[in-house]
Amino acid sequence: MARTYLKKATLTSTSHASDVHDTVVKILEDIEAGGDQAALDYAAKFDKYTGPVLLSEADIKTACAKVPEKLKADIRFAHDNVKRFAQAQKATLQDVEYEVVPGFIAGQKAIPVDAAGCYVPGGRYSHIASAIMTVTTAKVAGCKHITACSPPRADAGVASAIIYAAHICGADRIMAMGGVQGVAAMTYGLFGLPAANILVGPGNQFVAEAKRILFGRVGIDMIAGPTDSLILADGRADPHIVATDLVSQAEHGYNSPVWLVTDDEGLAKDVMEWVPALIAALPELNRDNAAAAWRDYAEVILCADREEMASVSDEYAPEHLTVQAEDLSWWLNRLTCYGSLFLGEETTVSYGDKATGTNHVLPTSGAARYTGGLSVHKYMKIVTWQRATREGSKPVAEATARISRLEGMEGHARSADVRLAKYFPDEHFD
Ligand code: NAD
Repeated sequence: MARTYLKKATLTSTSHASDVHDTVVKILEDIEAGGDQAALDYAAKFDKYTGPVLLSEADIKTACAKVPEKLKADIRFAHDNVKRFAQAQKATLQDVEYEVVPGFIAGQKAIPVDAAGCYVPGGRYSHIASAIMTVTTAKVAGCKHITACSPPRADAGVASAIIYAAHICGADRIMAMGGVQGVAAMTYGLFGLPAANILVGPGNQFVAEAKRILFGRVGIDMIAGPTDSLILADGRADPHIVATDLVSQAEHGYNSPVWLVTDDEGLAKDVMEWVPALIAALPELNRDNAAAAWRDYAEVILCADREEMASVSDEYAPEHLTVQAEDLSWWLNRLTCYGSLFLGEETTVSYGDKATGTNHVLPTSGAARYTGGLSVHKYMKIVTWQRATREGSKPVAEATARISRLEGMEGHARSADVRLAKYFPDEHFD
Protein backbone atom coordinates (compact mmCIF):
# COMPACT_ATOMS: atom_id res chain seq x y z
CA MET A 1 0.00 0.00 0.00
CA ALA A 2 1.36 3.44 -0.88
CA ARG A 3 1.01 6.12 1.75
CA THR A 4 -2.47 7.65 2.08
CA TYR A 5 -3.03 11.23 3.26
CA LEU A 6 -5.92 11.27 5.73
CA LYS A 7 -5.16 15.01 6.07
CA LYS A 8 -2.99 17.01 3.66
CA ALA A 9 -1.36 20.42 4.14
CA THR A 10 -2.46 23.30 1.94
CA LEU A 11 0.64 25.38 2.79
CA THR A 12 4.30 24.51 3.34
CA SER A 13 7.32 26.29 4.78
CA THR A 14 8.16 27.67 1.32
CA SER A 15 4.68 29.02 0.54
CA HIS A 16 5.57 32.70 1.16
CA ALA A 17 9.34 32.40 0.82
CA SER A 18 9.88 35.04 -1.87
CA ASP A 19 7.80 37.72 -0.06
CA VAL A 20 9.77 37.08 3.11
CA HIS A 21 13.07 37.21 1.19
CA ASP A 22 12.28 40.59 -0.40
CA THR A 23 11.20 42.07 2.94
CA VAL A 24 14.36 40.89 4.68
CA VAL A 25 16.73 42.08 1.92
CA LYS A 26 15.22 45.56 2.13
CA ILE A 27 15.58 45.73 5.93
CA LEU A 28 19.18 44.47 5.84
CA GLU A 29 20.14 46.97 3.13
CA ASP A 30 18.51 49.85 5.00
CA ILE A 31 20.28 48.96 8.23
CA GLU A 32 23.65 48.45 6.60
CA ALA A 33 23.35 51.90 5.03
CA GLY A 34 21.66 53.66 7.95
CA GLY A 35 23.40 52.00 10.94
CA ASP A 36 22.07 52.33 14.51
CA GLN A 37 19.33 54.80 13.58
CA ALA A 38 17.88 52.57 10.85
CA ALA A 39 17.82 49.63 13.28
CA LEU A 40 16.05 51.79 15.86
CA ASP A 41 13.51 52.86 13.23
CA TYR A 42 12.68 49.24 12.43
CA ALA A 43 12.38 48.41 16.14
CA ALA A 44 9.90 51.24 16.45
CA LYS A 45 8.02 50.07 13.36
CA PHE A 46 7.76 46.33 14.12
CA ASP A 47 7.88 46.21 17.89
CA LYS A 48 6.66 49.73 18.79
CA TYR A 49 9.73 49.98 20.99
CA THR A 50 11.71 53.17 21.52
CA GLY A 51 13.52 52.39 24.80
CA PRO A 52 17.23 51.70 25.40
CA VAL A 53 18.80 48.97 23.27
CA LEU A 54 21.79 47.78 25.27
CA LEU A 55 20.78 46.84 28.81
CA SER A 56 22.88 48.34 31.57
CA GLU A 57 23.98 46.46 34.69
CA ALA A 58 21.26 48.28 36.60
CA ASP A 59 18.62 47.22 34.02
CA ILE A 60 19.75 43.62 34.36
CA LYS A 61 19.70 43.77 38.16
CA THR A 62 16.20 45.25 38.19
CA ALA A 63 14.93 42.60 35.75
CA CYS A 64 16.49 39.74 37.74
CA ALA A 65 14.86 40.98 40.92
CA LYS A 66 11.44 40.65 39.29
CA VAL A 67 11.80 36.93 38.51
CA PRO A 68 10.10 34.67 41.10
CA GLU A 69 12.52 32.45 43.06
CA LYS A 70 10.87 29.19 41.91
CA LEU A 71 11.26 30.20 38.25
CA LYS A 72 14.88 31.18 38.89
CA ALA A 73 15.50 27.70 40.32
CA ASP A 74 13.86 26.09 37.26
CA ILE A 75 15.99 28.21 34.92
CA ARG A 76 19.12 27.22 36.84
CA PHE A 77 18.06 23.54 36.66
CA ALA A 78 17.66 23.76 32.88
CA HIS A 79 20.90 25.74 32.53
CA ASP A 80 22.77 23.13 34.54
CA ASN A 81 21.49 20.29 32.34
CA VAL A 82 22.28 22.15 29.10
CA LYS A 83 25.72 23.06 30.42
CA ARG A 84 26.63 19.53 31.47
CA PHE A 85 25.40 18.05 28.19
CA ALA A 86 27.36 20.70 26.25
CA GLN A 87 30.49 19.89 28.31
CA ALA A 88 30.04 16.20 27.47
CA GLN A 89 29.73 17.10 23.77
CA LYS A 90 32.81 19.29 23.94
CA ALA A 91 34.79 16.39 25.41
CA THR A 92 34.18 14.46 22.17
CA LEU A 93 36.21 17.09 20.28
CA GLN A 94 39.70 15.73 20.76
CA ASP A 95 42.80 17.41 19.37
CA VAL A 96 44.51 15.19 16.79
CA GLU A 97 48.26 14.78 16.25
CA TYR A 98 49.13 12.25 13.53
CA GLU A 99 52.39 11.22 11.88
CA VAL A 100 51.40 11.12 8.21
CA VAL A 101 54.81 9.93 7.05
CA PRO A 102 57.80 9.43 9.34
CA GLY A 103 58.91 12.86 10.55
CA PHE A 104 55.86 14.69 9.20
CA ILE A 105 53.19 15.51 11.76
CA ALA A 106 49.72 16.81 10.90
CA GLY A 107 47.30 17.95 13.55
CA GLN A 108 43.81 19.19 14.19
CA LYS A 109 42.51 21.45 16.91
CA ALA A 110 39.19 23.06 17.74
CA ILE A 111 39.17 26.82 18.34
CA PRO A 112 36.02 28.62 19.50
CA VAL A 113 34.91 31.65 17.50
CA ASP A 114 35.48 34.93 19.28
CA ALA A 115 32.07 36.59 19.14
CA ALA A 116 28.69 34.84 19.19
CA GLY A 117 25.36 36.55 18.54
CA CYS A 118 22.53 34.61 20.19
CA TYR A 119 19.00 35.27 18.95
CA VAL A 120 16.31 34.68 21.56
CA PRO A 121 12.84 34.79 19.99
CA GLY A 122 10.16 36.76 21.75
CA GLY A 123 7.46 37.81 19.32
CA ARG A 124 4.65 35.51 20.42
CA TYR A 125 6.06 33.85 23.54
CA SER A 126 8.88 34.60 25.96
CA HIS A 127 11.36 31.96 24.83
CA ILE A 128 13.36 31.78 28.08
CA ALA A 129 14.64 28.36 27.05
CA SER A 130 16.20 29.73 23.85
CA ALA A 131 18.37 32.05 25.96
CA ILE A 132 19.50 29.05 27.99
CA MET A 133 20.20 26.91 24.89
CA THR A 134 22.17 29.49 22.92
CA VAL A 135 24.11 31.40 25.58
CA THR A 136 25.08 28.40 27.72
CA THR A 137 26.42 26.51 24.73
CA ALA A 138 28.43 29.51 23.52
CA LYS A 139 29.90 29.88 27.00
CA VAL A 140 30.89 26.21 27.25
CA ALA A 141 32.42 26.42 23.77
CA GLY A 142 34.63 29.25 25.04
CA CYS A 143 33.42 32.26 23.01
CA LYS A 144 34.89 35.48 24.43
CA HIS A 145 32.09 37.86 23.49
CA ILE A 146 28.52 36.65 23.81
CA THR A 147 25.65 38.94 22.88
CA ALA A 148 22.02 37.92 23.41
CA CYS A 149 19.26 39.82 21.67
CA SER A 150 15.51 39.49 22.00
CA PRO A 151 12.55 41.52 20.76
CA PRO A 152 11.21 43.94 23.35
CA ARG A 153 7.54 44.43 24.09
CA ALA A 154 6.43 48.00 23.40
CA ASP A 155 5.67 48.86 27.01
CA ALA A 156 7.69 46.33 28.96
CA GLY A 157 10.95 45.74 27.07
CA VAL A 158 12.51 42.27 27.08
CA ALA A 159 10.85 39.77 29.44
CA SER A 160 12.60 39.77 32.83
CA ALA A 161 12.98 35.98 32.82
CA ILE A 162 14.78 36.09 29.44
CA ILE A 163 17.15 38.72 30.84
CA TYR A 164 17.74 36.60 33.95
CA ALA A 165 18.38 33.47 31.87
CA ALA A 166 20.75 35.21 29.43
CA HIS A 167 22.59 36.79 32.35
CA ILE A 168 23.16 33.69 34.46
CA CYS A 169 24.03 31.59 31.40
CA GLY A 170 26.88 33.96 30.59
CA ALA A 171 25.81 36.67 28.13
CA ASP A 172 28.25 39.59 28.13
CA ARG A 173 25.71 41.93 26.57
CA ILE A 174 21.93 41.81 26.36
CA MET A 175 20.19 43.77 23.65
CA ALA A 176 16.53 44.75 23.50
CA MET A 177 16.10 44.32 19.78
CA GLY A 178 14.62 41.47 17.77
CA GLY A 179 13.70 40.37 14.28
CA VAL A 180 15.90 41.23 11.30
CA GLN A 181 17.11 44.40 13.03
CA GLY A 182 18.44 42.38 15.99
CA VAL A 183 20.24 39.95 13.69
CA ALA A 184 21.65 42.85 11.62
CA ALA A 185 22.84 44.74 14.71
CA MET A 186 24.82 41.72 15.94
CA THR A 187 26.26 41.02 12.48
CA TYR A 188 27.21 44.59 11.58
CA GLY A 189 28.43 45.41 15.10
CA LEU A 190 25.96 48.23 15.72
CA PHE A 191 25.48 49.96 19.09
CA GLY A 192 29.16 49.35 19.91
CA LEU A 193 28.76 45.56 19.85
CA PRO A 194 31.61 43.36 18.64
CA ALA A 195 30.55 42.13 15.18
CA ALA A 196 29.43 38.51 15.56
CA ASN A 197 31.47 35.71 14.00
CA ILE A 198 28.51 33.38 14.32
CA LEU A 199 24.76 33.92 14.64
CA VAL A 200 22.83 31.25 16.48
CA GLY A 201 19.30 30.71 17.67
CA PRO A 202 15.80 30.10 16.44
CA GLY A 203 13.33 32.64 15.17
CA ASN A 204 10.42 33.21 12.85
CA GLN A 205 10.65 33.16 9.05
CA PHE A 206 12.12 36.71 8.96
CA VAL A 207 14.88 35.87 11.41
CA ALA A 208 15.67 32.59 9.66
CA GLU A 209 15.81 34.32 6.27
CA ALA A 210 18.08 37.08 7.61
CA LYS A 211 20.52 34.46 8.90
CA ARG A 212 20.40 32.62 5.56
CA ILE A 213 21.15 35.80 3.59
CA LEU A 214 23.95 36.89 5.94
CA PHE A 215 25.62 33.48 5.92
CA GLY A 216 29.09 33.83 4.47
CA ARG A 217 29.65 37.24 5.93
CA VAL A 218 28.95 35.64 9.29
CA GLY A 219 28.68 31.98 10.29
CA ILE A 220 25.30 30.60 11.26
CA ASP A 221 24.28 27.55 13.24
CA MET A 222 21.64 26.45 10.71
CA ILE A 223 18.22 27.43 9.40
CA ALA A 224 16.15 27.23 12.59
CA GLY A 225 12.88 28.80 11.54
CA PRO A 226 9.27 27.94 12.30
CA THR A 227 9.16 24.74 14.33
CA ASP A 228 8.04 21.48 12.77
CA SER A 229 7.35 18.13 14.42
CA LEU A 230 6.54 14.62 13.33
CA ILE A 231 5.14 11.79 15.41
CA LEU A 232 5.52 8.14 14.41
CA ALA A 233 2.88 6.12 16.22
CA ASP A 234 1.67 2.54 15.95
CA GLY A 235 -1.59 1.00 17.15
CA ARG A 236 -0.33 0.73 20.73
CA ALA A 237 0.16 4.49 21.12
CA ASP A 238 -2.22 6.45 23.32
CA PRO A 239 -4.23 8.71 20.96
CA HIS A 240 -4.83 11.30 23.68
CA ILE A 241 -1.10 11.67 24.35
CA VAL A 242 -0.25 11.71 20.64
CA ALA A 243 -2.86 14.42 20.03
CA THR A 244 -1.67 16.44 23.04
CA ASP A 245 1.91 16.32 21.75
CA LEU A 246 0.87 17.38 18.24
CA VAL A 247 -1.09 20.33 19.62
CA SER A 248 1.78 21.28 21.95
CA GLN A 249 4.01 21.83 18.93
CA ALA A 250 1.36 23.42 16.71
CA GLU A 251 0.97 26.19 19.31
CA HIS A 252 4.43 27.52 18.31
CA GLY A 253 2.91 29.51 15.47
CA TYR A 254 0.35 29.63 12.68
CA ASN A 255 3.03 28.22 10.33
CA SER A 256 4.36 25.38 12.50
CA PRO A 257 3.66 22.07 10.75
CA VAL A 258 2.86 18.95 12.74
CA TRP A 259 2.70 15.56 11.05
CA LEU A 260 1.36 12.22 12.27
CA VAL A 261 2.63 9.13 10.47
CA THR A 262 1.08 5.82 11.45
CA ASP A 263 0.25 2.36 10.19
CA ASP A 264 -2.96 2.22 12.21
CA GLU A 265 -6.02 3.92 10.73
CA GLY A 266 -7.97 3.59 13.99
CA LEU A 267 -5.28 5.48 15.89
CA ALA A 268 -5.15 8.18 13.19
CA LYS A 269 -8.90 8.73 13.40
CA ASP A 270 -8.87 8.87 17.21
CA VAL A 271 -6.04 11.42 17.17
CA MET A 272 -7.83 13.55 14.56
CA GLU A 273 -10.90 13.54 16.78
CA TRP A 274 -8.92 14.60 19.86
CA VAL A 275 -6.95 17.44 18.26
CA PRO A 276 -9.73 20.03 17.69
CA ALA A 277 -11.00 19.57 21.25
CA LEU A 278 -7.52 20.01 22.69
CA ILE A 279 -6.90 23.11 20.59
CA ALA A 280 -10.22 24.60 21.64
CA ALA A 281 -9.23 24.22 25.29
CA LEU A 282 -6.03 26.30 24.95
CA PRO A 283 -5.73 29.99 25.94
CA GLU A 284 -6.59 32.39 23.10
CA LEU A 285 -3.16 33.14 21.53
CA ASN A 286 -2.10 29.48 21.68
CA ARG A 287 -5.47 28.40 20.33
CA ASP A 288 -5.27 30.72 17.34
CA ASN A 289 -1.72 29.60 16.51
CA ALA A 290 -2.46 25.91 16.88
CA ALA A 291 -5.78 26.08 15.01
CA ALA A 292 -4.18 27.80 12.00
CA ALA A 293 -1.17 25.45 12.03
CA TRP A 294 -3.46 22.40 12.21
CA ARG A 295 -5.76 23.72 9.46
CA ASP A 296 -3.09 24.78 6.93
CA TYR A 297 0.11 22.87 7.65
CA ALA A 298 -0.73 19.61 9.45
CA GLU A 299 -0.74 16.20 7.79
CA VAL A 300 -1.87 12.73 8.85
CA ILE A 301 -0.30 9.98 6.78
CA LEU A 302 -1.29 6.33 6.79
CA CYS A 303 1.44 3.85 5.84
CA ALA A 304 1.53 0.12 5.19
CA ASP A 305 4.13 -0.75 7.81
CA ARG A 306 6.90 0.65 9.99
CA GLU A 307 9.46 0.56 7.17
CA GLU A 308 7.28 2.88 5.08
CA MET A 309 6.68 5.09 8.14
CA ALA A 310 10.42 5.44 8.61
CA SER A 311 10.92 6.31 4.91
CA VAL A 312 8.25 9.02 5.06
CA SER A 313 9.84 10.42 8.22
CA ASP A 314 13.32 10.56 6.68
CA GLU A 315 11.85 12.29 3.63
CA TYR A 316 10.23 14.99 5.80
CA ALA A 317 13.42 15.30 7.92
CA PRO A 318 11.54 16.88 10.82
CA GLU A 319 13.04 19.17 13.41
CA HIS A 320 11.46 17.16 16.23
CA LEU A 321 10.77 13.47 15.78
CA THR A 322 8.81 11.43 18.30
CA VAL A 323 8.33 7.68 18.26
CA GLN A 324 5.42 6.25 20.19
CA ALA A 325 5.64 2.71 18.90
CA GLU A 326 6.99 -0.71 19.84
CA ASP A 327 10.65 -1.66 19.56
CA LEU A 328 12.31 1.71 20.15
CA SER A 329 15.77 0.32 19.38
CA TRP A 330 14.66 -0.59 15.85
CA TRP A 331 13.54 3.01 15.28
CA LEU A 332 16.73 4.47 16.77
CA ASN A 333 18.80 2.35 14.38
CA ARG A 334 16.62 2.90 11.33
CA LEU A 335 15.85 6.66 11.37
CA THR A 336 18.44 9.00 9.86
CA CYS A 337 16.97 12.49 9.32
CA TYR A 338 15.83 14.50 12.33
CA GLY A 339 16.98 17.36 14.54
CA SER A 340 16.21 15.62 17.82
CA LEU A 341 14.60 12.24 18.48
CA PHE A 342 12.24 11.49 21.37
CA LEU A 343 11.83 7.76 21.96
CA GLY A 344 8.75 6.51 23.77
CA GLU A 345 5.80 8.01 25.57
CA GLU A 346 7.86 8.66 28.70
CA THR A 347 9.64 11.56 27.08
CA THR A 348 8.29 14.37 24.92
CA VAL A 349 9.47 17.27 22.78
CA SER A 350 8.45 19.72 25.52
CA TYR A 351 11.05 18.18 27.86
CA GLY A 352 13.80 18.69 25.27
CA ASP A 353 12.47 22.15 24.43
CA LYS A 354 12.87 23.32 28.01
CA ALA A 355 15.04 21.31 30.32
CA THR A 356 16.62 17.95 29.48
CA GLY A 357 19.97 19.32 28.32
CA THR A 358 19.84 18.44 24.62
CA ASN A 359 19.64 21.65 22.61
CA HIS A 360 16.30 22.91 21.35
CA VAL A 361 17.77 25.01 18.55
CA LEU A 362 17.21 22.56 15.73
CA PRO A 363 17.08 22.42 11.93
CA THR A 364 13.70 23.13 10.34
CA SER A 365 12.20 22.97 6.83
CA GLY A 366 14.05 19.76 5.95
CA ALA A 367 17.49 21.05 6.97
CA ALA A 368 17.82 17.91 9.13
CA ARG A 369 18.76 16.13 5.91
CA TYR A 370 22.21 17.74 6.18
CA THR A 371 22.70 19.06 9.70
CA GLY A 372 21.98 18.43 13.34
CA GLY A 373 21.02 21.06 15.88
CA LEU A 374 22.97 23.59 17.90
CA SER A 375 25.86 22.20 19.95
CA VAL A 376 29.23 23.41 21.16
CA HIS A 377 30.62 22.07 17.86
CA LYS A 378 28.80 24.80 15.92
CA TYR A 379 30.87 27.47 17.71
CA MET A 380 34.15 25.67 17.09
CA LYS A 381 36.45 25.99 14.10
CA ILE A 382 38.12 22.68 13.36
CA VAL A 383 41.50 23.80 12.05
CA THR A 384 44.57 21.86 10.98
CA TRP A 385 48.34 22.41 11.38
CA GLN A 386 51.53 20.68 10.29
CA ARG A 387 55.18 20.47 11.25
CA ALA A 388 58.05 18.36 9.87
CA THR A 389 61.67 17.41 10.25
CA ARG A 390 63.86 18.00 7.19
CA GLU A 391 64.05 14.25 6.58
CA GLY A 392 60.26 13.93 6.99
CA SER A 393 59.62 16.70 4.47
CA LYS A 394 61.69 15.05 1.72
CA PRO A 395 59.11 12.63 0.19
CA VAL A 396 56.42 15.28 0.56
CA ALA A 397 58.55 17.87 -1.24
CA GLU A 398 59.31 15.49 -4.12
CA ALA A 399 55.65 14.58 -4.60
CA THR A 400 54.58 18.21 -4.28
CA ALA A 401 57.03 19.38 -6.94
CA ARG A 402 55.91 16.72 -9.42
CA ILE A 403 52.16 17.24 -8.82
CA SER A 404 52.57 21.03 -9.04
CA ARG A 405 54.46 20.84 -12.36
CA LEU A 406 51.82 18.56 -13.83
CA GLU A 407 49.21 21.12 -12.77
CA GLY A 408 51.23 23.89 -14.37
CA MET A 409 51.87 25.54 -10.99
CA GLU A 410 55.58 26.25 -11.29
CA GLY A 411 55.66 28.59 -8.29
CA HIS A 412 54.33 25.84 -6.02
CA ALA A 413 56.91 23.41 -7.40
CA ARG A 414 59.73 25.83 -6.65
CA SER A 415 58.79 26.17 -2.96
CA ALA A 416 59.43 22.43 -2.74
CA ASP A 417 62.56 22.61 -4.94
CA VAL A 418 64.17 25.34 -2.86
CA ARG A 419 63.86 23.26 0.30
CA LEU A 420 65.13 20.07 -1.29
CA ALA A 421 68.15 22.00 -2.61
CA LYS A 422 68.84 23.54 0.81
CA TYR A 423 68.36 20.43 2.98
CA PHE A 424 69.80 17.81 0.60
CA PRO A 425 72.45 19.67 -1.47
CA ASP A 426 74.22 16.49 -2.51
CA GLU A 427 71.15 14.76 -3.92
CA HIS A 428 69.47 15.03 -7.30
CA PHE A 429 65.66 15.17 -7.60
CA ASP A 430 63.51 14.72 -10.76
P1 NAD B 1 10.74 36.19 16.78
O1 NAD B 1 11.53 36.80 17.88
O2 NAD B 1 11.40 35.13 15.97
O3 NAD B 1 10.28 37.32 15.78
C1 NAD B 1 9.73 38.51 16.23
C2 NAD B 1 10.25 39.63 15.35
O4 NAD B 1 9.81 39.44 14.01
C3 NAD B 1 9.79 40.99 15.75
O5 NAD B 1 10.74 41.57 16.62
C4 NAD B 1 9.72 41.74 14.44
O6 NAD B 1 10.84 42.57 14.33
C5 NAD B 1 9.81 40.68 13.38
N1 NAD B 1 8.68 40.77 12.46
C6 NAD B 1 7.39 40.48 12.73
N2 NAD B 1 6.63 40.70 11.65
C7 NAD B 1 7.45 41.15 10.68
C8 NAD B 1 7.26 41.56 9.32
N3 NAD B 1 6.07 41.53 8.75
N4 NAD B 1 8.33 41.95 8.63
C9 NAD B 1 9.58 41.96 9.19
N5 NAD B 1 9.80 41.60 10.46
C10 NAD B 1 8.76 41.19 11.20
O7 NAD B 1 9.42 35.65 17.50
P2 NAD B 1 8.16 34.89 16.91
O8 NAD B 1 7.55 35.63 15.78
O9 NAD B 1 7.33 34.57 18.09
O10 NAD B 1 8.71 33.54 16.32
C11 NAD B 1 9.44 32.60 17.08
C12 NAD B 1 9.72 31.47 16.13
O11 NAD B 1 10.77 30.66 16.64
C13 NAD B 1 8.54 30.55 15.87
O12 NAD B 1 8.37 30.41 14.47
C14 NAD B 1 8.98 29.24 16.50
O13 NAD B 1 8.45 28.12 15.85
C15 NAD B 1 10.46 29.32 16.30
N6 NAD B 1 11.25 28.46 17.15
C16 NAD B 1 12.09 27.61 16.50
C17 NAD B 1 12.91 26.79 17.22
C18 NAD B 1 13.91 25.93 16.47
O14 NAD B 1 14.86 25.41 17.05
N7 NAD B 1 13.77 25.76 15.18
C19 NAD B 1 12.90 26.83 18.62
C20 NAD B 1 12.04 27.72 19.28
C21 NAD B 1 11.22 28.55 18.52
